[in-house]
Amino acid sequence: MAKKRKSHYHADMLSVEEAREKILAEFNPLNQVKINLNDSLGCVISKDIISNISVPPWNNSAMDGYAVVKEDVNKATEKKMVYLEVIEEISAGELPKKSIKSGQSARIMTGAPIPKGASAVVPFEDTDELTSKSPKLIGIKIDVAKFENIRKKGEDISQGDLIIKNGIEITPAIIGVLASIGFSQIHTYRRPKIGILSTGNELLEPGEKIEEGKIFNSNTFSVSSMSKLFGAKPIIQTHSLDTIEDLENKLNKFESVDLIVTSAGVSKGDYDVVKDVLSKNGDMNFWSVNMRPAKPLAFGKIKISGRDIPLLGLPGNPVSAMIAFEKFGRYAIDKMMGKKVKHRPIIKAILKEDIHNYDGRRLYARVKVEKSSNSKIIATPLKNQSSGVLTSMFLSNGLAICPSGTDILNKGQEIDVEMFGWNEEISEIIN
Ligand code: AMP
Ligand code: MG
Repeated sequence: MAKKRKSHYHADMLSVEEAREKILAEFNPLNQVKINLNDSLGCVISKDIISNISVPPWNNSAMDGYAVVKEDVNKATEKKMVYLEVIEEISAGELPKKSIKSGQSARIMTGAPIPKGASAVVPFEDTDELTSKSPKLIGIKIDVAKFENIRKKGEDISQGDLIIKNGIEITPAIIGVLASIGFSQIHTYRRPKIGILSTGNELLEPGEKIEEGKIFNSNTFSVSSMSKLFGAKPIIQTHSLDTIEDLENKLNKFESVDLIVTSAGVSKGDYDVVKDVLSKNGDMNFWSVNMRPAKPLAFGKIKISGRDIPLLGLPGNPVSAMIAFEKFGRYAIDKMMGKKVKHRPIIKAILKEDIHNYDGRRLYARVKVEKSSNSKIIATPLKNQSSGVLTSMFLSNGLAICPSGTDILNKGQEIDVEMFGWNEEISEIIN
């Protein structure tokens, strides 16, 4: 069982929840904009949607077949077919020209409007269409119920219905529904623009020639793609050197963004140009958050061209940067987009190997969650939990939560795992 550790109480740290609350207090949904339906996936509807039309707009056929008067086929069987006159053919997109009287039928295609007088559709396969000698006469082999194979006007949406309420997040199904009522544009809360800037003298941009003592900048790329996944628009600057001039110069280019996200240079205690520049230009807090990875975090506002712009300073280690952005940046983006701010789903899993928590912070351990052959959900911790090992972020699909003050989660114990939104499948293990 998990043991409580008393010696590592971190009174000077903010809990993840406290830090998030302070951050979220600084954000509100952005202004409303009218955008193309095709650009709206993941945005939030900002104005109730009322349909001007009914869907379907008229009764139409659910099958390729024959539109008939139901009572005419009451006694039809395979052995004793009922023969009806075929008075016209109606394909999808055409209007019927005639109405159906007793003894008559119309050959009709799926989606075509039902002619007046018809009260059911008999599918092709229940007629003698393939063997019939005359296209003017059709043998019906079955009885059908009244309105069978007829899709009724308005059965999906009625004209005047409030179909989608303000505040709903747009999914592919919603986009389909909006298209079905003829909308090409809709009102949503604006997607936030996120200015992304990595800092560090040691950085090279991918594509540059590798140099001794330098590493490629990965944070810009992981964090900007996360922000895209969360629905925002990343605006990227190439990394900044740890100099006042370069930092200020790059930050000043973010005059029109809704949030600036920097990485590195925010650890407590360390002398760092980043902290100096941020403090000098704004009202910044440098926090220690009771979590591992990603303890150091900066948050505040900085002044750019007269605007106070929120700035989230992520730690530099690649795993810490991603986890801090997931824990804080995602929530800020959701709130700006008008979304209901929500946590990731937490599942119960059986731990495959011990997880040690060395300093009593709340530990988020990268684990691979899988379903075993006997359908148990098993969480296997990744071997190397270093915050520099970025491959662990794609080899895992969730974070096992080891509470603050607990120094071990034991093998075989049932634990909580927070699944990553970008990789949440639980695959079957085949032994
Ligand atoms: P720092 O927060 O500046 O102390 O950086 C912590 C670690 O993260 C160091 O090993 C840095 O080299 C590394 N690091 C900082 N920024 C990046 C980046 N953009 N991409 C990859 N690694 C980084
Ligand atoms: Mg650094």
